[in-house]
Amino acid sequence: MLAAKSLLILLVASFSTLAGCATDAGDAESGDHEDEPAAESSDELRSAVSCQERSDTAYRGGTPYSIQVIHVGGKPTTKTTGHAFLKMQAAANADGVRLSLTSGFRTMAEQKHLYGCYTSGSCNNGNLAARPGYSNHQSGLAVDVSTSTWLARNASRFGFVRTVSQESWHYEYHGKDPGGPCSRGTAEAATVGSDTAPSDGSGGTTTPSEPTPATGGLTWVAPAQDATLQNGFVVKSHANKASIVKVVYSQGTYDFGTSTRPSDDFSLSYRFQYMGDKTLTAKGYDASGTLVAEDHVDFTLTP
Ligand SMILES: [Zn+2]
Repeated sequence: MLAAKSLLILLVASFSTLAGCATDAGDAESGDHEDEPAAESSDELRSAVSCQERSDTAYRGGTPYSIQVIHVGGKPTTKTTGHAFLKMQAAANADGVRLSLTSGFRTMAEQKHLYGCYTSGSCNNGNLAARPGYSNHQSGLAVDVSTSTWLARNASRFGFVRTVSQESWHYEYHGKDPGGPCSRGTAEAATVGSDTAPSDGSGGTTTPSEPTPATGGLTWVAPAQDATLQNGFVVKSHANKASIVKVVYSQGTYDFGTSTRPSDDFSLSYRFQYMGDKTLTAKGYDASGTLVAEDHVDFTLTP
């Protein structure tokens, strides 16, 4: 278990909270409208906190810089913002309230897409979006959170501030990393796994690389290769290995969900609104969290 660098901490999140993560258009500067994520089913699924860091290009005030992102609830976030959110989420859970992220860090490509939708009015309902490079989602400071009375009353206790009066879901975190499952050099981190060498200075070890998954371990069932699809559909992949206990689906930089339903070809309902040619990746993991299979499919999303 400890050896698995991709071991995921599973948190329960409702499907509905994952829907639409690729399309949220809220920005601190824009005051735009984001639809509440639409539930396509009452299914609950487990989404992941992945501490596996990935470099990406952030922007602040139009200036690019490099940041590391992790994934919380399937959404890319900075570690600092992600940890702060997890603290708040845990407190909400203790009060019987479920909180989820509906949008986190956004890449330039994603912001350009949303801005293009805004200027052309031809996609994403033409919702307002900040100029590319100027959204606080692009710096990792901003997150969109499922709204609730609890959130409105308690977010400030956890350092989250609403910065756009007309966007009840848009919060920013400007504080320090409060620590969490992806902290380095902690017992928690050891249980999570890490790409980095041990912090005990033992040295002599190389950073482990992602294991090369055997080809053929997963076979896409749906969508079909080169299919043309509309927004919402079910993704499925058949595991050819009995050792696969979960499949994580991703689209580009988004991990958008984890399915643990082998009897139904690891099906996962998802609503895409991010149009164009897409490549989906399915990664199969065994019970120890080791990546053992991978497959991908190309298809086109149409409005
Ligand atoms: Zn926002």
